Amino acid sequence: MNRFLEQVRSLEPGTSLAVLGDPIAHSLSPVMHDAALAARGLAHRYGRLRVSETELAEAFRYLHDRFLGWNLTLPLKLAAVNLVDEIDAEARWLNAINTVVCRQGRLAGFNTDSAGLHRALDEAFGAGWNLAPVTIIGAGGGAGSSAARYLARIGVPELVLVNRTPEKLEPLRAALAGLTNLRLHGWDGLPRAVAESRLLINASSLGLDGAPLGWDPGWLQSDHRVFDMVYRRDPTPVVAWARSRGTVAADGLAMLLYQGAAAFRHWFGEPVPEAEMRRALYAAAGRA
Ligand code: NAP
Repeated sequence: MNRFLEQVRSLEPGTSLAVLGDPIAHSLSPVMHDAALAARGLAHRYGRLRVSETELAEAFRYLHDRFLGWNLTLPLKLAAVNLVDEIDAEARWLNAINTVVCRQGRLAGFNTDSAGLHRALDEAFGAGWNLAPVTIIGAGGGAGSSAARYLARIGVPELVLVNRTPEKLEPLRAALAGLTNLRLHGWDGLPRAVAESRLLINASSLGLDGAPLGWDPGWLQSDHRVFDMVYRRDPTPVVAWARSRGTVAADGLAMLLYQGAAAFRHWFGEPVPEAEMRRALYAAAGRA
């Protein structure tokens, strides 16, 4: 039996939703969605499945008539676009899928990360964050490229995009031309990108494993704001880096909550038990 089938067979009985990704052990999505399912009295469970990009098509084939739906996390959001039968307009523009709904054997793809990101930025920094120049670090990945497309569409005036592999930014150069004032940098352009913006969004997976960043806090000014899509029990290296300079910073836990609430709405409609989701998620992350 291959690794994927072994994992599916070891899921809790009643599991009909899951998050797929690699790595996946850190994901708190099951805690949050199980709390929502219990609050709504729905007899389903939500699991996690470690699926690499090469296993993704097999996973979609296997799950599509057995599960109600699933979420996708790194590194699968871009590849998933080609594996669904239909895709909503927002996900098509963002060119990334994080939520799949199975409807009568057909797979519908959605993206709830942008709604989650917007609500999390409002919560962390208040109104007006979208008026400042924004740098997205890791803008070539699934989360970063869809964040860039979203922010350009809602009218962020200046976007600075940084990626370790700069060629991955090229599709955005064409797609975002005319929507915003755009600058692209490779990894060595990071200090310049920080200087060129006031809101930094880390959409790279850097810091997920807790390894130190090696970035200089001296790059930051007092009016910078830092948002890290990564979340961990402890402050992420990006958040610790920012706070060491006294800069206001938030990690990706609230984004996880809000994208999860929007995904739950796609699967089950209203009401979405967001308070229960938040309580379970924040308790699991060791937050008040
Ligand atoms: P992805 O598609 O695999 O993209 C990963 C990104 O990280 C790429 O830009 C990659 O650069 C960059 N990267 C990886 N290792 C790096 C390193 N050592 N140095 C510099 N850059 C590095 O993943 P994703 O789906 O976009 O997710 C990215 C992160 O956002 C993950 O940590 C994920 O958990 C988080 N996220 C959180 C939420 C939330 O709700 N809080 C939602 C979405 C994503 P290259 O292109 O050069 O490989």
